[in-house]
Amino acid sequence: MREGRADPSGAVPLPDYVIEVEGLSKTFGDRVVVRDLSMRVKRGQIYGFLGPNGSGKTTTIRMLCGLLTPDAGRGSCLGLDILTQSRAIRRHVGYMTQKFSLYADLSVRENLEFVARIYGVPNPVAAAKEAVERLGLAGRDEQLAGSLSGGWKQRLALGACILPSPQLLLLDEPTAGVDPKARREFWAQIHALAAEGLTVLVSTHYMDEAERCHEIAYIAYGELLAQGTVEQVVAGAGLSTWSVTGGDPAALARELLDRPGVELVAPFGASVHVGGHDAAALEAAIAPFRGRPELTWRKDEPTLEDVFIDLMNRSRDNFR
Ligand code: ADP
Repeated sequence: MREGRADPSGAVPLPDYVIEVEGLSKTFGDRVVVRDLSMRVKRGQIYGFLGPNGSGKTTTIRMLCGLLTPDAGRGSCLGLDILTQSRAIRRHVGYMTQKFSLYADLSVRENLEFVARIYGVPNPVAAAKEAVERLGLAGRDEQLAGSLSGGWKQRLALGACILPSPQLLLLDEPTAGVDPKARREFWAQIHALAAEGLTVLVSTHYMDEAERCHEIAYIAYGELLAQGTVEQVVAGAGLSTWSVTGGDPAALARELLDRPGVELVAPFGASVHVGGHDAAALEAAIAPFRGRPELTWRKDEPTLEDVFIDLMNRSRDNFR
């Protein structure tokens, strides 16, 4: 991804906002994949990028680091212009994709030393050793990369990504298909890196990972629909929600969806979350159901998942 070693001084004075872009758009053929997207990411933060598949997250990430030129829009990454200084941006960005891109038939140590040499890291052997320690890969350094489990592969890829000392990490669904324990450990690494001052933009499908980010953005059908802290995104959705237990959740969900005032019905295990933007209309809609003895109703706070389902439903309707 990078085109060489970062400045020997290593230091680019970083602005308060490491990413600051406005009105980014990208069209492939006749399809608008990213539409008028504006976002800002503060230095040292973990910024989560969420949204359904095909919503334009990867395309946006590639525009941010200069791998793809937007059709419209402007902005900066690491204080450098994304339109005219993409080569310089790439020197200071670590980009990790879901696809494992290291050498399966080299060991963990050999892969890291190879990456260190390619990027001109001084003393590649020592740098690889340090990365092994830092990422908890000790004991696996002589193992062939191809024989590692998914979680360890991603950890190795992260190690390779940070070897050239980037100032920004762009992680594109780094934990897709990784088991929950390895995902937790991977996130502990991300937090440790952020605590050292690295800024991290990470795309994910997992709700628990969204909750671990300092700020999040939700993108659907190419449009950024919400951004801020988890609390801000939940509050900004303006959803009223109730939770109901008892009865047959699937049948209940079908019945509730037909009621005017009900805009969201999301089964959660044995309960169903019911939501809408007009609290009074929602209460009127569920009133006939509240007399049913088998059901227990509780006014509830909306969850982040409720909010994402609602955002997706509404953007799908607009899209249609
Ligand atoms: P996400 O990362 O949210 O899954 P992507 O940015 O990968 O979404 O893709 C958004 C849409 O753009 C998808 O429909 C994808 O097929 C399309 N797309 C991505 N890259 C290209 C390309 N180089 N040429 C044509 N279509 C593309």
